[in-house]
Amino acid sequence: MVTNPLKICVVGCGLTGSTTVSRILANCGAVEIDIFDQGYSPGGRLSSRTLNRGTDDEIVVDHGCQFLRSDTTVTNDLLTVWKSLGWLSEWKPRNPLEAETSSLSSSSLPSSFFGFPSKPPFYHPTGPTGNSGISSLVLNQVSSWDERATLSTSTRVTSVTRDPSSPHPWCVTTLNGKNAIHDTANSDMASSPATATSFYDIVVFTDVSSTTFGSWHRASAMGSTSEATSDHQPIPSEFIDSVCARVNSRTPLFSSIIVFDSPLQFDSDAITFAGDDSLWFASRASSKTSSPGAKDAWVLVCTPKFGVDEIKRVPMQTDDGKFIPQDKKYLTSGPCKVMADSFISYLKKQNIPVPSIIQIDGQRWGSAMPGDKTTPPTASSKQTLKGVIYDSSTQVLAPTSLVSSSPPFVSHPEGLYQVGDFMSTYSSGAEAALISALAAADDIKKKIE
Ligand SMILES: Cc1cc2nc3c(=O)[nH]c(=O)nc-3n(C[C@H](O)[C@H](O)[C@H](O)COP(=O)(O)OP(=O)(O)OC[C@H]3O[C@@H](n4cnc5c(N)ncnc54)[C@H](O)[C@@H]3O)c2cc1C
Repeated sequence: MVTNPLKICVVGCGLTGSTTVSRILANCGAVEIDIFDQGYSPGGRLSSRTLNRGTDDEIVVDHGCQFLRSDTTVTNDLLTVWKSLGWLSEWKPRNPLEAETSSLSSSSLPSSFFGFPSKPPFYHPTGPTGNSGISSLVLNQVSSWDERATLSTSTRVTSVTRDPSSPHPWCVTTLNGKNAIHDTANSDMASSPATATSFYDIVVFTDVSSTTFGSWHRASAMGSTSEATSDHQPIPSEFIDSVCARVNSRTPLFSSIIVFDSPLQFDSDAITFAGDDSLWFASRASSKTSSPGAKDAWVLVCTPKFGVDEIKRVPMQTDDGKFIPQDKKYLTSGPCKVMADSFISYLKKQNIPVPSIIQIDGQRWGSAMPGDKTTPPTASSKQTLKGVIYDSSTQVLAPTSLVSSSPPFVSHPEGLYQVGDFMSTYSSGAEAALISALAAADDIKKKIE
């Protein structure tokens, strides 16, 4: 397989993609890497939105991952470097709370949100771009980055096939522009989107939706599998089967962004809710930035059970199997409003005066994180909706712990890798993704040597 330079395609530039690339660039000489991401910018689930851009009220809000953990020796060194570079610091919100909003006894209350608040430290990027900036920083860590690697955003990989006669056998087709963006409405799709094809020795997938979902899903890279010919063979089924076997289940989540018209007079910046019907976690955006806007923005994250119930109520696919992009009106009047109402009701019970909400937004995360890896896909908390297994349990997410001794990624001898939190053999979360990325990059290095 070794060609000089080795040509590598990385599908996805979230924490996993950026860390894998950075590690390969740091440790391997002659490589040429193309990274494609279907988002407007890198970050993936380490996702941030800038509200009221260019105004006095501009504020960056993390509406995906809330903070990072580093509980294992595998990531300790990496996070020490990131801290020393000034990319990351400990997030210390004022008066961290665990609020019990149910009548359940404390012994049966669900687990806290990634160990918050009882199991610090919690880390957050120090830069102005919120969590999503970490992927860019990680990529730029290697000085020769722009010579050996190229990042293309708004570019979706739509198919990967194998041409055994090519010196770089993996043929990757991409789609560019607004058709690549995950939530572009079907009606806004251009009729003749720009496509391109390139060839690689190794393809690294970082999103399981790329390999385990058929072409109904926007992240799928299985587009031309059914059109494969003897010249262009599909991704080997044994690779797909190994990835599917590792996935177990998915936990869907909704996040809601709410902005109050004046500061909420509440002395806590972040809360884990125990036993609430819809809320799992809430944090004040200004606790994560040195330049808070005049308004007070909060991010609310729903419980796994609320997430599963909601995608059961409003599915992500039509009956004939077509993807339904998330619709802003549905989000803001549906799940995000329920979560906002729940938060307001909690505040009122604490006798906190609640200012008016002047902005509400949100995001549906169909595969927010892996379902509980310690229970089988047949566990009572797991159910199949339109062929996809979802987990509604509130997992124990801290400290990050080993759940199996297999390698924390799946690979195929012909040069395919599936990497990330869903493949990781550690409990769900960003740390599991990091561990998977580092191990896969080291495995690729061995192949090059
Ligand atoms: C609401 C929410 C809250 C969370 N909170 C926490 C937390 O507090 N702490 C914690 O540790 N973890 C948390 N997590 C989990 C954490 O965000 C993930 O474990 C981590 O971000 C995974 O990173 P990744 O790079 O593996 O995947 P992703 O970030 O999903 O990256 C995959 C990338 O691939 C791209 N992509 C997919 N398909 C294609 C394609 N066909 N072509 C091109 N690009 C493609 C996507 O655009 C995406 O950027 C949270 C997740 C969510 C959703």
